[in-house]
Amino acid sequence: MTSYAAIFRALVAAATLVVAAMPTVRAAASGAGEILEKDIPILVREVAPGLYYQYHHQESNNAFLVTDEGVLVIDTRQHPKRAEELVATIRKITDKPIRWVVNTHAHGDHYFGNSVFKREGATIIAHRDTAGMMKANFELEMKRRMGYFKQRGYDSADVKLTLPDVTFDSRYPLTIGGRQVEIFYIGAGQNPGDTFVYFPKERVLYAGGPFSKESWPNPSFTPSMQGWTEVLRKIAAMDVDQYLGGHGDIGTRQDVLNEARMLADFDAGMRAAVATGMSRDDIVKAAIFEKYKDVRNYYRMNLFISSYYHLLTTGKPENPYP
Ligand SMILES: [Zn+2]
Repeated sequence: MTSYAAIFRALVAAATLVVAAMPTVRAAASGAGEILEKDIPILVREVAPGLYYQYHHQESNNAFLVTDEGVLVIDTRQHPKRAEELVATIRKITDKPIRWVVNTHAHGDHYFGNSVFKREGATIIAHRDTAGMMKANFELEMKRRMGYFKQRGYDSADVKLTLPDVTFDSRYPLTIGGRQVEIFYIGAGQNPGDTFVYFPKERVLYAGGPFSKESWPNPSFTPSMQGWTEVLRKIAAMDVDQYLGGHGDIGTRQDVLNEARMLADFDAGMRAAVATGMSRDDIVKAAIFEKYKDVRNYYRMNLFISSYYHLLTTGKPENPYP
């Protein structure tokens, strides 16, 4: 284990030197810089018979299960236009009705397409805290997505708050077309309400909020990083071969454990930095998580540090719920 306390004493002393010596790293971690993303087209793969995973590296992912009795969709994308594209993708595979939608968490990039599926006649299912967060944070989520809408020429007024029809507390089992689907909640990970969708026979788990392969997640909603890593370790212990994250590609058990380790390391690093009296700017400048610079979203590290600093110093998430 790295001794963060020892590193910090040296880093604080040499902070200006570090900044001067690594201008490109600072720019990459500034949070305001361009998105240095891999240009990967939207990929739709059948990960088990009738179970499809849509992976969109630059945005957010989805899954859908096609059965004789209809279709179940997990997450609805970032704008109704994107949701319409998803419906078109599903229609290339089946003309069965879209009966169920699961919203895994209350971030706009995973549920702003709800209205399109509502129009299709689907029943929307979410954890009660996800439903609560959709109501509480709708304006915040809209604000967070304005740049995206502008960039793509999408009208923000098209996004209508479309709440779940059904909410649950701990589990919501479904059978659709003879296929077993376990929708469940084991505590807050990235967000209160983080929902998993388990396909036991297929050994597939959709893990929308808490897990994203090789990706820095936004920690501004989590009430507890330890709780989050615990959730990841629990799902890593499940009978699952394929972990489908809300971002990033298909993951393995090891990928889930890697994220748990990275978050635990982030937690330890931040706690040690705060304990030595470093300000949030000192921590940003010290670039102490630079070893993770190749992980997707690292360019937003200053925002992540700022959010987590807020949680550690106030005891409340930057974006609290309730
Ligand atoms: Zn997301």
